[in-house]
Amino acid sequence: MTLCLPRPYPDELVYSVLARYFAYIQPTGVIGAHMTIDGRRRFSIKFVRGAARLAEQTRLTWGLSGQQLVSRHTLLPFYGAFLDPDAYLRCTEDFLSDNSHTAVATLGINNSSVTEPTYLRFCALCAQEDLDVHGETFWRRQHQICGTLFCTRHWVLLQNSAAAVSPPHSRLSDASQYCRVGAQASSLVDSGDNRLARLIAERSASILNGTLSSWLHADTGFQYQRAAAEVGYGVGSTKINTKSLARDLLSYFGASLLSKIGCSLSINSAPLRHIFHGCGTNHPLIHVLVQLFLEAKLEASRARLKSQALDGSSRQDWKCPNIFARHSADFRVPEVILRRGDKGGQYFYARCSCGFAFSFSTSQEDDPNMPVVARASRYGKAIEREVRRMYAASGSIQAVCREMHLNYRAVKRSLHGSKNAFEPSVDKVQSLRKKWLETRSRSSYQALLRNDREWILGRRKRLNRRPSNRSPCRQVRPSNRLRHADVA
Ligand SMILES: [Zn+2]
Ligand SMILES: [Zn+2]
Repeated sequence: MTLCLPRPYPDELVYSVLARYFAYIQPTGVIGAHMTIDGRRRFSIKFVRGAARLAEQTRLTWGLSGQQLVSRHTLLPFYGAFLDPDAYLRCTEDFLSDNSHTAVATLGINNSSVTEPTYLRFCALCAQEDLDVHGETFWRRQHQICGTLFCTRHWVLLQNSAAAVSPPHSRLSDASQYCRVGAQASSLVDSGDNRLARLIAERSASILNGTLSSWLHADTGFQYQRAAAEVGYGVGSTKINTKSLARDLLSYFGASLLSKIGCSLSINSAPLRHIFHGCGTNHPLIHVLVQLFLEAKLEASRARLKSQALDGSSRQDWKCPNIFARHSADFRVPEVILRRGDKGGQYFYARCSCGFAFSFSTSQEDDPNMPVVARASRYGKAIEREVRRMYAASGSIQAVCREMHLNYRAVKRSLHGSKNAFEPSVDKVQSLRKKWLETRSRSSYQALLRNDREWILGRRKRLNRRPSNRSPCRQVRPSNRLRHADVA
């Protein structure tokens, strides 16, 4: 059966199209009329039910596939943005079929820390423009995102309409009837709140539209952990002090703004802990807050060190000062971690793939990407080779020390191929691995964490891997994957 529904406007919710349709035809029996669409009385505002069938019924007028309908005219791209790809695809399939309840449960909307808006919202300027151009207005997706206070087209505050999100009756609320155009927009008094609320709206809208950001690591929780450690919330080399991070995050956004965007978080809130470990499904608004907070911290921390790149991926932006390693000009040190010194001061620790490991806290005057080495802890093969070459030429350890700015013990170690006191021998590592595989004992596990970290964490990850939506294993942000699918 073909349905003669009006064509959706860009960014319009499917719900809004149906509301306009029923406002045009003014049915006498509301429930009977609703049931002609898909046999049900009520319709979802944020999502859609039976998108595949709806797309088929409107093929002649809308020309959209079911998947396009879900990705362009529902809020799934926002609410599902941080699911792993398989869970996201399952949700899309549920919305394409009639099984929308399961998908809504997966999306974690019922998060107790975030209150969804009670009324449908609109921008007075958008509504006025729509009335001038089309003679009617509609519900835009961007205005209904939880936590968003601004219209990103006009940067004015959104207003509550008279249409409740969960009304006691099953009549649909048509935007043209429920938006009071000309009403005065309320304003945020605090200019700091204003700036942050704009940032939240901007980030949420770009998540909805699938715009790429710097938080695209396959495992977002891990990327948050790295960023948090870099800006000084690391405890030792593996843990994150989530309590102190939560305290700073809450004071960064302020209680008044958080309550306006419907967030009730405390320093003990579980979502602020879970988000770093990828457990469960977190509300996308919490992701937005954590991202903006970490970005601000990273920017401040990097500005102090005169780095050029401030986009949160700046761990890649340090050159290797090891001139013997023959790195190419655009090579960057793969691993740089911010650490705290004994007296509370901060410094960076870098470990390059050439084997050179060093600490630094400033960069060179003429090259902001080149660190000034404060202390080297490992030298790597390239430097050892150079030491041996120079010793063969001069025959004097003292001369090598002078030439290469190394101390006597370091040169001797390189010449004799011995390790320093902290480096375990290959045999020791092999026997620890063997012992752990046989006994799984706690002591060998901890010894491996100290001496052969990558291997043991790799093993643990493999053991912990479970086929559920808890495993944060993403290759491509799902919304983008679907966007490509749209095009194809
Ligand atoms: Zn607007
Ligand atoms: Zn290097």
